[in-house]
Amino acid sequence: MKKIKKIAFIGMGLINSSLVRDLKEKNFYQKSAAFSRTKKTRDTLKKLRIVDKVEDNYKNTVRDADIIVVGVPVEAFTKVIKSISCHLKPGAIVTDVGSVKKSLIKISEEVLPKQVDFVPGHPIAGTENSGPEAGFKGLFKGGYCIITPSSKTSKDSLEVVIKMWNLVGMKVDIMEADYHDMVLAITSHIPHIIAYSIVGTVANLEKSIKTEVIKYAASGFKDFTRIAASDPIMWRDIMLSNKSSILKMLKIFKNDLSKLEEAIKKQDSKFLLNLFSKTRKIRKRITK
Ligand code: NAP
Repeated sequence: MKKIKKIAFIGMGLINSSLVRDLKEKNFYQKSAAFSRTKKTRDTLKKLRIVDKVEDNYKNTVRDADIIVVGVPVEAFTKVIKSISCHLKPGAIVTDVGSVKKSLIKISEEVLPKQVDFVPGHPIAGTENSGPEAGFKGLFKGGYCIITPSSKTSKDSLEVVIKMWNLVGMKVDIMEADYHDMVLAITSHIPHIIAYSIVGTVANLEKSIKTEVIKYAASGFKDFTRIAASDPIMWRDIMLSNKSSILKMLKIFKNDLSKLEEAIKKQDSKFLLNLFSKTRKIRKRITK
């Protein structure tokens, strides 16, 4: 595998700042640079000392970099790729951590020069917190990273990116981008829609009945508030970028919700017990 002399990060939020903390310890690269558009984040990065160079422009960040990791909200990806493309060296690998894959592959293939390889990635790890101070060592340990190579991704570049995620403790699954977007729509994007929606409903209810509903909310609601506290810009972008898969899955979900509503209306105890027993088994499989 080729030696990584320089790694560059575009966007230093929760994901990229956690990644660099682990990669530094594992000696994956010789030097590192990170771009951040805001002075506040750049100052924080200097204080944290997790990268060798903190930059305020794309050119200096990616110049001579062997691998560039893009970690920005998915709707900002196009602007980033367009801004870095003319400064990349031939043979550079561009990879990303975005939660949606198909639309990002399309943009990369349109914009990146032929001598640059794009390896799309999505580490399934995270918290509801954002920014470089929210990052920590060990975030990725034991999780899965999904890589969705296109027909144009070279074997060598794929190998480098797989090695990078393995080093930080992730198992790697290779998947078609379309399939990834569908699977994530149901396992991650729709649960966020439900959380944003239910917490919004409770907040509206509180206003209309003029009582502190939130104060008396039991633990079920509290669990939803954790998810609904996730970064608003990041999640707005995911919803917009994965529109077609989300709408397909939402249709299936609404259909199942109607069946549940009907069962409650009809006092169908058997239906309710069957469903709740099935879901309990799924929880046991996940936490095993
Ligand atoms: P984050 O903590 O909110 O950080 C986002 C970073 O992107 C910040 O450094 C911000 O820079 C930068 N940024 C935002 N808009 C930008 C723009 N228009 N141009 C350039 N830079 C911009 O986000 P994160 O949680 O690390 O997520 C990053 C990516 O990882 C997203 O695509 C997300 O879908 C994906 N992801 C997130 C999770 C999760 O649970 N959080 C899990 C897996 C994958 P400034 O600080 O300078 O504004």
